[in-house]
Amino acid sequence: MTATLRQRNVVILGSTGSIGTSTLDVIRRHPDRFSVLALTAHRNIDLLVAQCVEFKPRIVAVPDAERAARTREALTARGLQDIEVMDTPTHLAQVAAHADADMIMAAIVGAAGLPATLAAVEAGKTVLLANKEALVMSGPLFMQAARRAGALLLPIDSEHNAIFQALPVNFREGLDRAGVRKIILTASGGPFRTLPLDALQSVTPDEACAHPNWVMGRKISVDSATMMNKGLEVIEARWLFNAAPDQVEVLIHPQSIIHSMVSYHDGSVLAQLGNPDMRTPIACAMAWPERIDAGVAPLDLTRSGRLDFEAPDETRFPCLKLAREAMLRGGGAPTLLNAANEVAVEAFLDQRLPFMRIADVVKSVLDELPVEELPDLDAVYAADRSAREVASRSVMSRIFASTP
Ligand code: NDP
Repeated sequence: MTATLRQRNVVILGSTGSIGTSTLDVIRRHPDRFSVLALTAHRNIDLLVAQCVEFKPRIVAVPDAERAARTREALTARGLQDIEVMDTPTHLAQVAAHADADMIMAAIVGAAGLPATLAAVEAGKTVLLANKEALVMSGPLFMQAARRAGALLLPIDSEHNAIFQALPVNFREGLDRAGVRKIILTASGGPFRTLPLDALQSVTPDEACAHPNWVMGRKISVDSATMMNKGLEVIEARWLFNAAPDQVEVLIHPQSIIHSMVSYHDGSVLAQLGNPDMRTPIACAMAWPERIDAGVAPLDLTRSGRLDFEAPDETRFPCLKLAREAMLRGGGAPTLLNAANEVAVEAFLDQRLPFMRIADVVKSVLDELPVEELPDLDAVYAADRSAREVASRSVMSRIFASTP
């Protein structure tokens, strides 16, 4: 006899992004398991409307009245006027904590995702965490909120999802108790791993976004090219797995076949392997603890061939070092790092800042601002704002410095 599945109601924060569309692809394959309760978008209203036509959510949320009016008009023209359109930034938090939501995919990019992701956590939901910046900027407060509300955090980042799969079930009692020596985060090294150092001066946003193995949004693509992404992931791993700073290691593995590893005190190393496709960690988290088809081709090691490894080069990738230092300094340092990086990456994508200056902007913020303890969210947002101000000034000064 087969048990009947209860459909789980999914909210996707950032449904129009790379993670959002991959999540919808997994849902498309399993209409018996998942139904879409709410979708949220920022600029891409056309895609949001197309998603509504296919997935018929009950609610959509967009950031302002103008975009809401466009969304309503397009939905009405398609006979979908019953879909509720919410139109303020606080509505994101409302849909994230919706009483009927079983599972929230937190896939808004950057600090903008914190309020809604935290609202889902505080409502005790099952939170599929892609939005690593939210955790990096508010680490201890975020984890305390999750514990207090009994929220279940399931990592979506392929590395953290791999670690989650390779850890024993009792890892929350402490890594040492669980016999874990180290967490080893693998990193492809991005598109510029072997580019001559002087050529890095003139790389363009499109070159930085052309990742050799993964298709991702533009911000995380640039973070991968600077390896700030790996730095943010080290901090993310520290909080998610309650690891000591020296228990998280980074290893370059250019093929992106091993997604991360856990090294145990008995000498065992458990790794999770697979083709680089975000639908694997998404499907793993959505169905957890079951396994479902993700639409990903099975791994054929005879075709992928050799697996290489090397230590990361912190001269080439100063952002990785800055992130590790921020983690060691603690307090608000990761919040400052994250905000400064967001400002610098945006300036690079707008072609206002050269690639190699991203790390300089982040460093200038960490050098200039005091690192304080952040006892509450107001303090987190205040630190985030200060870092953005200093980073914007730092970007401007570099523009003037390079103007003839
Ligand atoms: P994308 O840029 O592709 O998508 C971002 C999503 O967030 C879009 O839906 C976008 O809406 C929405 N958004 C952007 N700004 C705002 C805002 N101010 N307020 C509300 N919504 C906003 O990013 P990714 O999908 O690549 O990444 C999402 C998160 O997942 C990031 O934190 C990233 O680090 C993480 N991640 C991504 C991976 C990947 O493979 N892509 C892998 C691991 C983690 P719109 O498009 O409508 O403007």
